[in-house]
Amino acid sequence: MAYHNFVMNRQINIPYMVKIGYGKINRLGKYLIDKGMSNIAIFWSEGLEETLGGKIYKGFEQHDIEIVCNKVVQYINIEEVTKISFSLPRTTDAIIGVGGGKVLDFAKYSANLLKKPFISVPTSLSNDGFCSPNTSLLVDGKRTSVKSNIPFGVIVDLDVISKSPIYLIYSGIGDMTSKISALWDWKVAFRKGYERYNDFAAMLTYNAIDTLLNTKNLNLISSEFLKNLSTSLLLSGMAMEIAGTSRPASGAEHLISHALDEISRPSQPHGIQTGVSSYVCALLQNNPQIEMLKNFLLKTGFFEYVMNNPLSRADYFLALQRAPLIKKDFYTVLSEKDSYMKAIDIIEKDAILKKIIR
Ligand SMILES: [Zn+2]
Repeated sequence: MAYHNFVMNRQINIPYMVKIGYGKINRLGKYLIDKGMSNIAIFWSEGLEETLGGKIYKGFEQHDIEIVCNKVVQYINIEEVTKISFSLPRTTDAIIGVGGGKVLDFAKYSANLLKKPFISVPTSLSNDGFCSPNTSLLVDGKRTSVKSNIPFGVIVDLDVISKSPIYLIYSGIGDMTSKISALWDWKVAFRKGYERYNDFAAMLTYNAIDTLLNTKNLNLISSEFLKNLSTSLLLSGMAMEIAGTSRPASGAEHLISHALDEISRPSQPHGIQTGVSSYVCALLQNNPQIEMLKNFLLKTGFFEYVMNNPLSRADYFLALQRAPLIKKDFYTVLSEKDSYMKAIDIIEKDAILKKIIR
């Protein structure tokens, strides 16, 4: 049967270079040369070359790495990425992105176009994009999810990450815990016959959630916490690659966040929105992991952060209404009849939600 052939033959990529720890960017040159890569294109988020360039270039010099293209990324429209990608020399061995979501998406898509390895060097852990097969680019002026490839290499330097603003770490926590409601949506969508399910991808994501939720040291910039947060986000990205869909990482809570991005000016970071929405959706779902989720978001100070930086109630209610319309044929708990009214009731009655959506 063709369906089985497709499933069996689909190629799954994995990152072949995974370095998580302190001082890792100093060794980037060595990691590259170990893989036989000596001509590289490097893309930066604005302002980062000034702070991190010295460390990275020193390692490049030591290992005779040549930079064939060096650019600061400001725009992520697909035409611009395509134009720059095809102007790169043929000798380019690898494409590196250093910085936040935009530059990583830029470099990831560029590498995908040229069929070159992409090395992801995130400077924060605000979401799972640094090791996912997807990119978010501007297509005709609209933020659009575009399929790419999982990175060949992921370098998470905890020196750099621990100096990132704390709200970005909260965002990473929220993006990771949002898999709790996403997995529920996926399983129910499968039971209703709308989706294929992949046991292995689901197991990997459940384990990734456990890794983070069982972290003993809740000092958010401790080595244990940051290592667990980065590994969980990385595994969650891998689960999408294995499943061949974003389902293990993204459900109703992501739809609400996408709706908020369109409505709120300015919107909050992705993981703050998905983290809060995951709690709302998990309550709607009667999710068996709800208490675990709530305790973790309380203990880490996530809820307290959002209490001090609340989401607008008017925007949130509008986002709840729009969310089910964002993706066609995508079952989530919000597809259920009366879910909108139930969600509003939950937000009005829950002691935490009353304080963070107001
Ligand atoms: Zn996300």
